[in-house]
Amino acid sequence: MTDQQELPYRVESEPAWNTVAAGTARVSLHPDEAAPEVVVVSGPCPRCRHETVHSEPLVAYANALARSSLLARLLYQRAAEPGSREVEVICGCPTSHPEAAEQTGCGASWVLHVEWGV
Ligand SMILES: [Zn+2]
Ligand SMILES: [Zn+2]
Repeated sequence: MTDQQELPYRVESEPAWNTVAAGTARVSLHPDEAAPEVVVVSGPCPRCRHETVHSEPLVAYANALARSSLLARLLYQRAAEPGSREVEVICGCPTSHPEAAEQTGCGASWVLHVEWGV
């Protein structure tokens, strides 16, 4: 028996991972499902199989601006409506992969379709 070699770090994506991740990912919407501000996706990375967590802010632009500005309010309202987002998840597993240098995860990324308020 030899120790299982960890996959080397590679920045890549494969369409098949989107399908795999759609079946294994857990999605939670914060602060609530009706008007989410952040999508949190967790689950095993379809490439390296390690557990990874990814947060996607839906109202990043609104937060970056003064809350009182008209643009911020428009963006905030739009994010609070029923919607969907193609969330790009990048593997951020805590395992150190060979050749990863300062990077976290294995370099894999995949896309998850998330819907809310429907
Ligand atoms: Zn990994
Ligand atoms: Zn990975």
